[in-house]
Amino acid sequence: MDFKIIAIDGPTGVGKSTIARQLAEKLGYLYVDTGAMFRCLAWRWGKQGCPESDHLLEELGDQTRIVFKDEKVICDDNDVTQEIRTERISGLASRISRFPLIREVLKKQQMALVEEVRKSSSYLGAVLEGRDVGTVVFPGADFKFFVDASPEIRAKRRMLQLRERGENANFEEILVDLRKRDFQDQNRKVAPLMAAEDAIIVDTGILSAAQVLEHLLSCVGGKIEVS
Ligand code: C5P
Repeated sequence: MDFKIIAIDGPTGVGKSTIARQLAEKLGYLYVDTGAMFRCLAWRWGKQGCPESDHLLEELGDQTRIVFKDEKVICDDNDVTQEIRTERISGLASRISRFPLIREVLKKQQMALVEEVRKSSSYLGAVLEGRDVGTVVFPGADFKFFVDASPEIRAKRRMLQLRERGENANFEEILVDLRKRDFQDQNRKVAPLMAAEDAIIVDTGILSAAQVLEHLLSCVGGKIEVS
């Protein structure tokens, strides 16, 4: 069976990770969270005081080692799974992702990761989620989805998630922050967030998580054997 690539792109807080992880599990595919890779670089960048020179950014990109292992994210031998999910790192990730050098390094790493898995036949395919997977990293992906929902719906979900974790969460603050990240992601010069021309648009605002998964499976089902 041919190795297949599924790209899932969309804005922040739309539920991409849950959808992509579940889809990968269902299909027996590798799941790649490209946002976590940007977050790892942002985490290290923050420790270095956020330098912006080409030379230091290139060094950062080349020297940072990112490994996904047993649902954990390991960066330079540190388990950063939780630490990279803070609002501070979200902001830094959005900032560092505008540098072409950084995007190029991570694009190469994402392609290498998929190539390694394809060659070793350890998975039947890969599901990658991010902002530019279907437009820039794998424009020839077998399936492309663009998942979207209104900023208000995404902010409300984020607020409930934070409150469930016992954290303070203010809807207005979350909404302002989310709109800011949307703006940065959509308006950067390199690989801005947008749907590929041939992407299937999925509105997660009107569907439950289970319905979204069912819809994606039905889209790929005709061409992929689903267990
Ligand atoms: O998806 P997640 O929210 O973890 O991504 C964090 C940030 O990394 C995003 O706000 C975006 O700026 C950046 N990113 C990106 N391209 C990707 C994945 C993430 O620019 N493919």
